Amino acid sequence: MSAEQSIVASNSKPLRVGILGFGGLGQAAARVIAPKRETIWVAAADQKGYAYNGEPLNPDACIATYRSRGSLGYLDPSGTLSSRSILDLIQQASVDGYFLALPNLPNNFMATVARQFIQSGWRGILVDALKRTSAVEQLLELKEHLQQAGITYMTGCGATPGLLTAAAALAAQSYAEIHSVKITFGVGIANWEAYRATIREDIAHLPGYNVEMATAMSDAQVQDLLEKTDGILTLENMEHADDIMLELAGICPRERVTVGGVVDTRHSQKPLSTNVKVTGRTFEGKISTHTFTLGDETSMAANVCGPAFGYLKAGASLHRRGIYGLFTAAEIMPQFVN
Ligand code: NAD
Repeated sequence: MSAEQSIVASNSKPLRVGILGFGGLGQAAARVIAPKRETIWVAAADQKGYAYNGEPLNPDACIATYRSRGSLGYLDPSGTLSSRSILDLIQQASVDGYFLALPNLPNNFMATVARQFIQSGWRGILVDALKRTSAVEQLLELKEHLQQAGITYMTGCGATPGLLTAAAALAAQSYAEIHSVKITFGVGIANWEAYRATIREDIAHLPGYNVEMATAMSDAQVQDLLEKTDGILTLENMEHADDIMLELAGICPRERVTVGGVVDTRHSQKPLSTNVKVTGRTFEGKISTHTFTLGDETSMAANVCGPAFGYLKAGASLHRRGIYGLFTAAEIMPQFVN
């Protein structure tokens, strides 16, 4: 972007933002975005309803309604109950960009939502925090359709994939060849029910489980499993889209990228420090490792929602220039939202 264009972008009117999915991440996203002056939060949807009346939404009121009544559809005065909340919202809301804080259960759910946007004729920016490689592959198949529809879709823009993948792409620049990218995450949440989809999707990575099994598990079955593990999920060699994103960005073959971590569902303190280690060979022939470690005080929600909106802003500047299609967190730099 030229200096002149960048001034135009930062001077343009605030982005009207929507949040689809109002669970753990959706609610945190509302708190992250509401105080910003470059964005106005105007729309949100959950499985049973949505909130929209063209005016800015109040996070406290929305969260209180969702927690007490189970859906934004009960929000007074801007809530509407609907069993097809996403479609209804797309059709009537004036929104520049949506953060898709939706569960990807089943594994093709996000691609289905993307198709709904394409078919609706809506134009704008979409951002997801998808995790699985196979889910990002499904979106890649929609790339040209997104382009033709005038949608700038930013995928894999949470923490991992997302912030850590982008950090790996940056760290790679010191090397002539990348030997390995090793992502290790620590997540601490006081109560698994605040992040049901995240925990179910993590269970799907455990040996002996898959996405179908995790989707079908009742809350009581999840609770039983967590009882047996003392609330801890230890994950190794996960199918995580950081690999395909770094491959697409030309950084290294996907086999060199590994992702694992530990999730504690009973304490908000992280069980270990989240980090990415990028090992490579410099042009002088030296082998070295760059390590990027997240502060232990930063929550999963902070490390997912901050980048998601940073990529939404970056997507908006692409969209404004007529650049549509599918982009990943490893190929575009997020922009800080003020
Ligand atoms: P959650 O279970 O707390 O909330 C899901 C929300 O989506 C609920 O409000 C639910 O009503 C809504 N929803 C479900 N189906 C819907 C539908 N058909 N239409 C409209 N709304 C619907 O979920 P969460 O724990 O906040 O996780 C959201 C996603 O974020 C998960 O897919 C998770 O894997 C992902 N995530 C990504 C990262 C990352 O770093 N990339 C980190 C954490 C979580």
